[in-house]
Amino acid sequence: AVRAVGVRKSFGDHEVLKGLDLEVAYGEVLCILGPSGSGKSTFLRCINHLEIPNAGYVWVDGSIMGYDLRAGVLHELPVRRLRGQQSQLGMVFQHFNLFAHRTVLGNVIEGPMVVRGLRRAEAEKRAMELLDQVGMAGRASSYPSQLSGGQKQRVAIARALAMEPRVMLFDEPTSALDPELVGEVLEVMRNLAKGGTTMIVVTHEIGFAREVADRVLVMIDGEIRETGKPEQVLSNPDDPRVRTFLSRVL
Ligand code: ATP
Ligand code: MG
Repeated sequence: AVRAVGVRKSFGDHEVLKGLDLEVAYGEVLCILGPSGSGKSTFLRCINHLEIPNAGYVWVDGSIMGYDLRAGVLHELPVRRLRGQQSQLGMVFQHFNLFAHRTVLGNVIEGPMVVRGLRRAEAEKRAMELLDQVGMAGRASSYPSQLSGGQKQRVAIARALAMEPRVMLFDEPTSALDPELVGEVLEVMRNLAKGGTTMIVVTHEIGFAREVADRVLVMIDGEIRETGKPEQVLSNPDDPRVRTFLSRVL
């Protein structure tokens, strides 16, 4: 579903991603762990082309993000078509990023109506199904400011799903939540994983990674230092720096 080859990204003379390769299959759940500043968010943003890599390419669902291949030559996509490509990837952020002046329902129907051209009735029907799936159907007419962090994040997940992405990207979706609200969001994510959603999840929730991930990847200083089955990576990593990192977070 996703393939990254040789992805590099620098900010000034600081190289944040040092040539990353990644392959994620349809239906797979990949958890990315790593210390703060190791480049995890930057990598997710390069995958969906919110950040443009200095080198390397990312394929999503068979097309190269940001480019069109014609007659063997890569052409940069115009913004409109880039948006179309980006809608193949749903993204959930640490800080929810809901539209404050729209209701819960308004948040979920926005993308489908504006980007995908769905009619309101159809968008609302689908949105209510998704809100039901994340346990928020009863709050459809509330505004984000009236919700708890966990509720906001569940709405954000429904909003991302409403675009029917091929892959869901999560960037520390529970890090901004009070501890007692983390569980309800992880529960929604666990159900998505069970339903076969392809997911790339940056998280500090080791328990979630151990239980739900098909594969875990540890990033340190802009490099992939270890990748494999959760039980292997989390219990018996080969790389000494990965051992040190895990001993601090486990
Ligand atoms: P955290 O766990 O704290 O979220 P992270 O692994 O997601 O960390 P990134 O946010 O990807 O790390 O940042 C990696 C490095 O890139 C950091 O040193 C950060 O300061 C730098 N960086 C990220 N975005 C920018 C930017 N837009 N301009 C300059 N430097 C940036
Ligand atoms: Mg980050």
